[in-house]
Amino acid sequence: MKKLSRKEETACENATYEIDVRKGFQLAGFYFSVEAEHSNCKGLARNNNLGTCDSGTKEIKIETGYGPTQTSETFIHEILEAITWHYLRDKLRHEDLVRMSLGLHQVMESLGVRFVIRERKEKL
Ligand SMILES: [Zn+2]
Repeated sequence: MKKLSRKEETACENATYEIDVRKGFQLAGFYFSVEAEHSNCKGLARNNNLGTCDSGTKEIKIETGYGPTQTSETFIHEILEAITWHYLRDKLRHEDLVRMSLGLHQVMESLGVRFVIRERKEKL
């Protein structure tokens, strides 16, 4: 595997396509919601989790306090959790899921694709 040059690494730091995932997504005929969590709130960070995926309620929560790159990787991780639950009957080992999400995240970043959770505008 070729190591990225400094120039290529810098290019990866700026995503060309930012895809807002707050609107949620469809998987296996179900709608999954996606919500942001913040590290200064109790919850995810307390358990050292950067995200959670509840296959029962179809809710994904992402800790966004660690920056846009981490948010994108966590989102990829959590959708793989959902895919594993629905299509692999949870039989993928978690350590393998972690490696797959890391690899997928690297491919997306190199393509300039990043998953973001935009803050909701305050309602008047
Ligand atoms: Zn996980």
